[in-house]
Amino acid sequence: MKPLSLRARLTLWYVGVLLAILAVVSVLSYSFLRWSLLQQVDASLAAVAQIVRETDERGAGGSEVERAIRELLGPGLSDRYFQFLDPEGRSRFRSGSPPVVLPLSPEARDNAARGRRTFETLEDPRGGPVRLLTVPVLREGRRVEIIQVSAPLTRTREALSGYLTTLLALVPVAVALAAAGGAVITGRALRPVREMSRAARQITAEDLGRRLARRGAEDEIDHLADTLNTMLAGLEAAFAHARRFSADAAHELRTPLTALKGEIEVALRAARSPEEYRRVLHSSLEEVEHLIRLAEDLLQFSRSSAALGTPRDRVQLEPIVLEALEVGTRRAQGTGVTVRAEEIGPVTVLGEAGALRRAVLNLVDNAVKYTPAGGKVGLSLVARDGQARIAVQDTGIGIDPVDAARIFDPFVRLDAARSRDAGGAGLGLALVRAIVAAHGGTVDLESAPGAGSRFTIRLPLA
Ligand code: ADP
Repeated sequence: MKPLSLRARLTLWYVGVLLAILAVVSVLSYSFLRWSLLQQVDASLAAVAQIVRETDERGAGGSEVERAIRELLGPGLSDRYFQFLDPEGRSRFRSGSPPVVLPLSPEARDNAARGRRTFETLEDPRGGPVRLLTVPVLREGRRVEIIQVSAPLTRTREALSGYLTTLLALVPVAVALAAAGGAVITGRALRPVREMSRAARQITAEDLGRRLARRGAEDEIDHLADTLNTMLAGLEAAFAHARRFSADAAHELRTPLTALKGEIEVALRAARSPEEYRRVLHSSLEEVEHLIRLAEDLLQFSRSSAALGTPRDRVQLEPIVLEALEVGTRRAQGTGVTVRAEEIGPVTVLGEAGALRRAVLNLVDNAVKYTPAGGKVGLSLVARDGQARIAVQDTGIGIDPVDAARIFDPFVRLDAARSRDAGGAGLGLALVRAIVAAHGGTVDLESAPGAGSRFTIRLPLA
């Protein structure tokens, strides 16, 4: 089943809570009304009993008493009946014509015997419900008689059922009004959310610079706008980065392709000697090799960036650094550069072994590439302050501090003219930085031009 909309759910909750409150209030108010009406009837019965007793004490007796009492009570209390009984429960006098018989329950008789009065409710099948008070009369500590007074409960019952009918009619009306009001209120409360989603829908990849407006209330809606704006800023930066990257990549591809085209065109312009063709082909081959290297670097870069979100294994760094040492030694053969191990110990991190190997190899590759004959390249691996530290140090040409941050950007080569054969596309260090960042680490450079460089990768220990 389709889940209910937020608006419908909020309205339903609102109505549900209101219904529960109304139900509790109705039950409480009905019970209170019933109790207080009965209290009133009981109080009036007690008053009538008192009058009956006092009038009787004046010794009027029989129907004289009734007339005197009727006069005292007035026409408003003409539906009150009373009777006198002797202590054994035998009738002495009954009011009304014909006389109305009021029953004496065993409980009321027991209570009277103990000198206590009793209130009872009787369901009289003919005259409707009746409230009955039984009071013992004591004279000098002796029970001389029992007085009973009754009052009909019909009006009380009518008042109560009228109140119940009103409640049953009003509660649904209140709930219906609350549902309508709730729908309007939630609609209004959710309007900023609807407006924001409409505004967010209008932002496309082409205008990621746009931001959602804040209302300044510092409420949930403003926080949502902040969250979306932060996300948009991230997307904008990522898009700009991707655009720059593809523009740079296209530029990198165009340079060797233009050179290739130029050479082939010149060669085709006239008939050439076989040596001449061989020279052109040879130089074209160099451009093609450069293009292949560039394509491989690009492929490597996008693959590594894409694969970095993969699950983490425990990776021993020692074999990786030793392998990089071996590869570096091989690359340095015949260049007059010595590659050696400094301090290397067993260190374990969490990550992806292939990517970490690539990062260390790139640093060693660069160190060998940018160190002239007679120079030295050193590798170390230690665990310090909860971090794995891999350092690749060389006594090469060094890097100017102003360029230190820039060289980690893609396609940055400090001196493009400097041995393009040996140099890559400028993606090596960008890849190192991406790999290390994906492992929660950092890569730093300390360098002095002419004196050499030291690249340090720091990774959290496993
Ligand atoms: P490349 O593929 O050109 O080596 P990198 O991203 O690996 O690209 O390096 C970017 C630039 O940083 C290099 O072109 C070079 O100018 C500079 N560089 C990198 N490593 C060193 C180093 N060890 N010594 C001096 N310069 C370096």
